[in-house]
Amino acid sequence: MSAITELRTQTGDQISVPEQWLNLAAQIPWAFPLPHNAEGDTETRESLGRIYSEECARIEMLEGEYRTEPFISVPTDVLDEYAKYRPSRFQRARGFEKHLDYTGQIYFKREDGNPTGSHKPNTAIAQAFYARAQGLTGLVTDTGAGQWGAALAWACHTQGLECSVFMTRNSFNSKPYRRYLMQMSGARVFASPSEITSQGRALLKEDQNHRGSLGIGMGEAMEYMRTQSGTRLALGCMSYYAAMHQTIIGQELVAQLEMAEVVPDILIGCVGGGTNFIGFVAPFASDNALPASLRGSKRPRLVAVESANIPVLTKGVYEYEFADAFGLTTQVKMYTLGRNFLPDEIHAGGLRYHGKSPILSLLVHEGRIEAAAIDQNEAFLAGKIFFESEGILAAPESSHAIAYVIKEIDREKREGTAATIVFCLSGTGYLDLQSYSSFFGMR
Ligand SMILES: *Cc1c(COP(=O)(O)O)cnc(C)c1O
Repeated sequence: MSAITELRTQTGDQISVPEQWLNLAAQIPWAFPLPHNAEGDTETRESLGRIYSEECARIEMLEGEYRTEPFISVPTDVLDEYAKYRPSRFQRARGFEKHLDYTGQIYFKREDGNPTGSHKPNTAIAQAFYARAQGLTGLVTDTGAGQWGAALAWACHTQGLECSVFMTRNSFNSKPYRRYLMQMSGARVFASPSEITSQGRALLKEDQNHRGSLGIGMGEAMEYMRTQSGTRLALGCMSYYAAMHQTIIGQELVAQLEMAEVVPDILIGCVGGGTNFIGFVAPFASDNALPASLRGSKRPRLVAVESANIPVLTKGVYEYEFADAFGLTTQVKMYTLGRNFLPDEIHAGGLRYHGKSPILSLLVHEGRIEAAAIDQNEAFLAGKIFFESEGILAAPESSHAIAYVIKEIDREKREGTAATIVFCLSGTGYLDLQSYSSFFGMR
């Protein structure tokens, strides 16, 4: 590759933002299992429409074009917001290659340079747009470390909607920076458990300093949403709609790979709920979405990297389970450790879910996607190496993917091969310096 081509690839400016999302459910040979209600019957658009916006309910139920169309047009208003930070960069990790003494090539797709520093605005913007188009006045959600809350708050602001966020009390107090981001976007942020719901009040009565959890936050968000007319719930990770919106990443990636004349052998990404990963690999996971130049003799390996502390794909079971810890939302078919599974307090908060998104789960179950687990220590060490060699501080979540890249490279070297590896940098670590500092014991 010439220096010029490489430069162009690095800026990402030479490609345009894709105007369609890739609808994987309509592109794969397996039937995508629809959500069930508490009684185990298939949900309806009406029942889901009482929880989510109407359009999100339609997507989740694969209604109309979502059942048949391989691609879905991105609304113009959403494209206008994407244009503020997309296309995102795709670049080669030369410093990292050199540090690892690797003769193959490593590339990465960057989702760290956007309004709130992770891939989550890609779906938050679309969700806020649907809500406004429907005439809703606001969205309600829960957040742990705050990436999702910050993205939704910013997106709601762009659409003139109110945003209410129940933030795990522990993070509300100990990780204030993303809370400030939410508040800068005009969101109301409640430490959960809070005084404004009956569930929250009951928990606070037992323990004034209750630390909260994602499940409790979700329960409070549901209760509050039901008391506020014109509002619905917005979810970042566990839904099909969020995964579909993230396919903007993979479609840009395909254009950038073509332009740089790079054919990947392995694609790697971290998984919490699974949305950034699915979005990143979607064109490679589908049957016919790839341009001819990338349709090699064999498919690249697609590796979903989870936290070894929450081994959903590597140790869970594939069955219907509630998406939230209280059994309040809806049941989806997924790999799960059970909704009562209590994950350790790991630093990569975005990876702490008891299940994985249904579309990711299906593709793992059918063998199209591989799963691997990385422990937190490996992730932080990899994050430090990447920072030292590339000058980019990755989110602790993304560092799980980087750690797995290092493992693959060790294997490549042992086997005397040099595969071309591409990974997804799902977010920035600059708001997670506290986690890095406590892991490395800095004072
Ligand atoms: C939320 C988050 C994740 C995990 O969510 P997915 O749905 O698996 O994409 C990963 N990385 C970052 C930076 C996040 O904020």
